[in-house]
Amino acid sequence: MRRAILGFGLCATATLLMAGVMTADGISDRARKLHFSSIVVDTHDDTTQRFLDGKFDLGPRDANGSIDIPRMREGNLSAIFFSIWMPSKVTGPEAVKRALAQIDSVREQIRRHPDALVLATTAAEIREARKQGKIAALMGVEGGHMIASDLGVLRSYAALGVRYMTLTHSGNSEWADSSTAKAEHNGLSPFGKDVVREMNRLGMIVDISHVSDKTFYDVLETSKAPVFASHSSCRAICDAARNMTDQMIKDLAAKGGVIQINYHVGFLSQEFRDAEKANPQIEKDIQAEVNKRCGDNEACQLVQGDNVVREFVNAGKLPRVDYTKIIEHIDHAVKLVGAEHVGLGSDFDGAMMPFGMEDASKLPKITQALLQKGYSESDIRWILGENTLRVMTEVERVSRELGSAQKK
Ligand SMILES: [Zn+2]
Repeated sequence: MRRAILGFGLCATATLLMAGVMTADGISDRARKLHFSSIVVDTHDDTTQRFLDGKFDLGPRDANGSIDIPRMREGNLSAIFFSIWMPSKVTGPEAVKRALAQIDSVREQIRRHPDALVLATTAAEIREARKQGKIAALMGVEGGHMIASDLGVLRSYAALGVRYMTLTHSGNSEWADSSTAKAEHNGLSPFGKDVVREMNRLGMIVDISHVSDKTFYDVLETSKAPVFASHSSCRAICDAARNMTDQMIKDLAAKGGVIQINYHVGFLSQEFRDAEKANPQIEKDIQAEVNKRCGDNEACQLVQGDNVVREFVNAGKLPRVDYTKIIEHIDHAVKLVGAEHVGLGSDFDGAMMPFGMEDASKLPKITQALLQKGYSESDIRWILGENTLRVMTEVERVSRELGSAQKK
């Protein structure tokens, strides 16, 4: 039975190759054309740590990690949100100082590569970058702990070009509950609601990835603009607390928002999650190996974490997860709320990538897989990036309205 299926697969591929429909990398001419004429946006990428800790430069092709200019070009990644991240336990002035250093490091990369990169802060600037043949670089702050409970700091981040903020990371912030910590604020505190309102005024997208379900609903009630999940997947397929339930996805979409599917294997695959849970020693072994390679260098840990998990999978210690699992999550969300509310938030350079989606150069495979599933070209363009551009445009419109309302 197995042999028969394999035989058919090889034969079908050979036929397509002969017809010139598909090239050796499995991407059809139609998919290539569609993918490379679309604006592809990735709303969550953790490469920033590498700029600081690893003195990493985006210019040359790198053997490690998932992101550099050559591979972004190969995958037609047109706009990328670099995450400003540190653990939730870093708070107060230290968190602000480290966030500013990361923002500076992203801006320095843009300054160093003016032919390839341009800072973008609006949907129109992303389209303009595309016209100029450049990659739009954007920034999102991943965790409300980095504003040190100060709206002035939030405004400064906005002024430096940050265009979204995730309200928490894995721990609670001083004013919002996380999905992976014990609730302290019953969702958003009164100050947390002020943060959301100020983000609306500033034109920053409120990012509900990582927050608790109650925080999510408080945000929906408070925000005047659509919000998004910059890197979350579907809880119905993989029961992780920071994935979204079907009802949450519907409620997010009803407000005009977008779920940007996260590629991390532990958020995509229940089988992978169960295997990790069944053997807690594996996680310790992975951590020990990463520590051995990296010490306390966070950038190295992020990249080597992916490598070590891959080695454990190859050794048969953890189940293999393929990139088609990403497609499963996209399809699940599309069936719930339509293609207008689903997008891509990889978590590249900060998580364990599935086989076949090791880096940004592999992105055309998503277009290929969606075409094969029968998705229309316009639906695919929405998913690849147009949905994010629409949310940004809407957030900008609300910001203008609120700004002018305040002047009266
Ligand atoms: Zn995250």
